[in-house]
Amino acid sequence: MAVYKQPCRQCGSLISQDSRFCPKCGSRAPFVDLCPTCLREIRREDMRCSGCGRPLHIACPRCGKQTFVGEKCDACGGSLLKQCLNPRCGEMQFFENAKCTACGKKL
Ligand SMILES: [Zn+2]
Ligand SMILES: [Zn+2]
Ligand SMILES: [Zn+2]
Ligand SMILES: [Zn+2]
Repeated sequence: MAVYKQPCRQCGSLISQDSRFCPKCGSRAPFVDLCPTCLREIRREDMRCSGCGRPLHIACPRCGKQTFVGEKCDACGGSLLKQCLNPRCGEMQFFENAKCTACGKKL
C-alpha cells in the first residue's frame, strides 16, 4: 500500500499525510494553520479564531509590520515562537501565549 506524502508547509520536506507534526523541522501544523492559543484550525483570510476569538493578524514584535499568527513573521521571517520554560516540556509556543498549550505552565 502506498503511503501518501505531502510537503510540510514550513520546510518543504515530504512527510506522510497523517503526521501530527513535521519530523524534520518540528512544526506542529505541517499542512494547516492552527490557532497558536487554542490549536483550532484557522484560515489566513479570517479576522479572528472561531475557537478563542484571538486576532489572527498581529504586529510583529521584531519589525512591527502586520503578520499572520504563524510560526514566522510574514514580513521579516523572524520566529514568532518562544520555548516553554518547563524543562520537561520545552515545546515551542507562540510568543503571545500566557500559558503553554502542551503542559499548561505559565510562560
Ligand atoms: Zn517541516
Ligand atoms: Zn483560537
Ligand atoms: Zn517581522
Ligand atoms: Zn510547556
